[in-house]
Order: sequence, then structure tokens, then C-alpha cells
Amino acid sequence: MRHQNDEGRTLPSSPTGRIPQWVHDEVAHALAPPEPWRSWTPREPRRRKRRNWSNIGGAALVGLGLVGSHVGLLAAPPVAGASAPPNVPSPGGDSSDDPLGTPMTPPAAGGSYAFVQHQDDGVTPVAYDPCRPVHYVVRPDNAPVGGDQLVRDAVARISQVTGLQFVEDGATDEDPTGQREPFQPDRYGDRWAPVLITWDTVAKQPDFAADVAGLGGSRALSVGDGPAVYVTGAVDLDAAQLADMLTWPGGAAVVRAVVLHELAHLVGLDHVDDPQQLMYPTTSDVLDFADGDLTGLAQLGAGECAPDL
Ligand SMILES: [Zn+2]
Repeated sequence: MRHQNDEGRTLPSSPTGRIPQWVHDEVAHALAPPEPWRSWTPREPRRRKRRNWSNIGGAALVGLGLVGSHVGLLAAPPVAGASAPPNVPSPGGDSSDDPLGTPMTPPAAGGSYAFVQHQDDGVTPVAYDPCRPVHYVVRPDNAPVGGDQLVRDAVARISQVTGLQFVEDGATDEDPTGQREPFQPDRYGDRWAPVLITWDTVAKQPDFAADVAGLGGSRALSVGDGPAVYVTGAVDLDAAQLADMLTWPGGAAVVRAVVLHELAHLVGLDHVDDPQQLMYPTTSDVLDFADGDLTGLAQLGAGECAPDL
């Protein structure tokens, strides 16, 4: 069932006439205190200004401000005769009838994994729509030399594992803010805003002063009784800290691991209490997705298609 306002715009709604609403447990998640996720000590550091660095996962949503006050963003029902522009894009976007890719077969070994959010059944993860590309833009400001390629490679890896198809929409000058709107028609047109990847400074992101190397997360929407689906997200990387790491022996692999970890948060993977996984809060030398990570990511690539969003 759909509502139409006087402009003929179609807004997705539930059979009972409700329009999409933000997933509430995301708010609860956002209110959880930030937790450091991992520390890492190089074996033979050339320089070691920081003994530990850490990162924030699902709780990073707090830092990114992707959730919380937006609960009511889509809650205002369309009013007959109202001329205010809708705050959601036309449904469907560039979605296809079938998933665009196939998740990697998870390893038989299994391993620990956890999801940032679940559907109402408490089991099925909230995920991106596999039937449409995950668009992303990069704000190049402050990026270290080679940073753009590093992000591209990490995105290729998360795409390979999840089967989600990522499309790079180029550069943006959008600032990461605590109140990022998921629908920004003036900047991005009639679609959900693309995932925003930024290289940020301590001045702009104070969390980076507290041994946080990056932040990542996404926002979910549901239409009526349909599944919650991520529609956009953000990854914010500590430009200075990661640039420094790149100068360490083997540092590029560590920076890549940070970006992979954040991208895993982006698509819905949470921390686990298993030091063999990349999503472990404090690990030493796991630099790529391990068995548990891969198992969880495969599920995150197999979400339901969501043509109504
Ligand atoms: Zn994390």
C-alpha cells in the first residue's frame, strides 16, 4: 500500500498506512556507551607513538550520529494537500528483481560472529538490500597518499565476501556530521544518500584523540512489517593516525585491516569475543576476515530485497 501526496510522489507505507520508521533498537544500540574494540602493537615498530589504538563498532554509531534523533525523521505522515517535499526518495531506486551478487561460501570451520542489529525474530541480521548497488562517495580531504586505492581495495574485498555490489560515485565535499540526513536530494538526487567515507581530523572528530582509529555504521529503515534494511551509512577514518601507521613496517596491511573492520561494521557485523576474528575488540595480528567474520558477512550479503524502500 502506498500513499500519494499532492505532488504525486509515492511514499512507501505499511498495509495499515504507517510509513517507514527507523528501527528502534538501533536507537537503543546508539545509546550504549562506546567500547574500544581493538588494540594493536606492532612487533617491531619503527615508531610507536601510540601503544594501543582502538576503534568503535556498532556503538560508533554514536560517534557518527547516524542514529538516535532521527527516529522521527520519517514518522510524519504525508498530509493530504500538503506541499512539503517528502523526506524519502522514490522507492525502488536502482533495484533489480534478484540479488546482484552471491556471497562467498562461508568456511566450514565456522567461528564467532555477531550482528549489529537483528530483525524482529532476533536471529536474522539487518543488512543492505542485495538487489541494488551500495553506492559510496569518498571525501578526499586529509587522505594519506594511496588512501583512495586502499579504500577501493578494501571495498572490493567486502564486496567479494558479501556479494554486495558497491558502486563508487566519486568524490564528495560532504562533511561527516552527527546529524547526517539519509536523504539529501539537493546533493545526491532522488535516492538514498550514498555511503560516506571520510578521512577525518581530531579537530573534527574528537573520538580520534582517544585511540579511536575509525568509526563505521549504517542506518536501517523498515516499511511497515517488512524487514529492516540499511539504506546508507558512513565510515570515518582517523587520517593522521592511519597515515602514521602507513609508515610502519607492514603498516599498510594494518590500515587495510582497520578499513575492512569498519566496512564490516558498515554492512552490519558487530564485535565478537574471539581473538581469532577481525571483529575481536583487542587483537594483535588478524589482518583479514577470519572464519567467523566470513560466516557472518555471508549472511549479511544474503538479506532480503527491499523494492519498497
Ligand atoms: Zn569495531
